[in-house]
Amino acid sequence: LVVTKRFEVLSIGDELLDGRVTDTNTVRLAHALSAVGAHLSHRATVTDDLDDIVREAGACAGRGTTTCVVSGGLGPTSDDLTAAAFAQLCGVPLQRDATQADKITAMLQGRGRSVSANQLKQADRPRGAQLLNNDQGTAPGFAIEYGGCRFVALPGIPKEFDPMVQDNVVAHLAGAQPVLRRALYCFGLIEAEVDRRLAELSTRFAGVRLQFRVKFPEIHVTLHAPPAAEKNLEEAFEFARGALVEHVYATHAHGEGLARRTLAMCQERQATLAVAESCTGGLLSDLITDVPGCSATYLLGVTAYSNAAKVALLGVSEASLQAHGAVSEPVVQQMAQGVRRSANSTFGLATTGISGPTGGTPDKPVGTVWIALSGPKETQAVCLHLPYGRRAHKEVSASSCLNLLRRHLLQP
Ligand code: ATP
Ligand code: MG
Repeated sequence: LVVTKRFEVLSIGDELLDGRVTDTNTVRLAHALSAVGAHLSHRATVTDDLDDIVREAGACAGRGTTTCVVSGGLGPTSDDLTAAAFAQLCGVPLQRDATQADKITAMLQGRGRSVSANQLKQADRPRGAQLLNNDQGTAPGFAIEYGGCRFVALPGIPKEFDPMVQDNVVAHLAGAQPVLRRALYCFGLIEAEVDRRLAELSTRFAGVRLQFRVKFPEIHVTLHAPPAAEKNLEEAFEFARGALVEHVYATHAHGEGLARRTLAMCQERQATLAVAESCTGGLLSDLITDVPGCSATYLLGVTAYSNAAKVALLGVSEASLQAHGAVSEPVVQQMAQGVRRSANSTFGLATTGISGPTGGTPDKPVGTVWIALSGPKETQAVCLHLPYGRRAHKEVSASSCLNLLRRHLLQP
């Protein structure tokens, strides 16, 4: 007899339905399950209402679900009704667990706090339920069977919820086959184009599943397969790499992050970097300085927004500004060269553009951005024509600068 597992999550809380709190527990639970080859078949969210919880839990068992993770409503306050709801559903009374009550008392006294009746309520669980240890807080979880479904009720607080998911759900799936993954982190293609280039993949390589995640302005492609399809997975990975070519800035072997990858490539060559920013307003420096250890590479960042600052701090010529304007090829080149000179770095990067929504002209519409890379041999500049909004223009421009440097470093 093969028992097929079916997983659900039932998250409980008014705050999840009135817009105050995003239900991230469900998302992290989904990740934790998919890491061991399982997946959620259904998700439900209800308010802190006893009847709603009872009705939804009953429906869950009725759908043939075998494990339902219940999130929230285990705390000490009057709106925490999960234990009462499952007692009602299962037709059993609530029962105070003496050991748990002592533990709660000891924990609160240890923190110098008094023990109130509602704190002790967290030791009340439906009779017959198994108590689940909570190392991070006062409210234990519990597990109870109803209608062929095992309900695993856990506290809603993420730092309590996560380890309890591992201990009480994921650990029991240890026999489940781990999913093999290969990742391709891409920059420079729109999602539709990535999709088009990989269209054949799922039909050509049996057992391999394709997933896209847009992490603007990047696109992350993940391939997964069961261990039995490992050979197909490797072939699919090579196929995808061939289809996306230089737009793949990193794979699972490197990890994600365009700035991280670019800096690692600089460090391998012992190259240093300085940046001069106008339209990106420091975002490029921000992305770079998010990378631990960036000080081995990153020497200087200048945000020179006004023309006067471009002249005084970067040595941009007044004549070029007059003749071509701040958003122009000669100016962006001089910015990259100027900051490279000041820092005495291997490379200089620069941005200047019209982020919008105002400031566009017929020959330089909003979204016109010049970026440049100045190196030991030459300075190259690229003009971007971006169709987004102000913030996205900054993000694409900053990442495009990193990508310009990365692609330069790929050359022998
Ligand atoms: P407590 O002891 O704090 O009362 P609890 O088990 O009763 O714990 P809830 O009252 O439902 O949990 O939620 C406590 C807090 O945890 C919420 O205010 C919210 O910030 C967070 N939280 C609850 N559910 C979720 C969820 N599904 N996703 C993310 N955060 C959540
Ligand atoms: Mg609560």
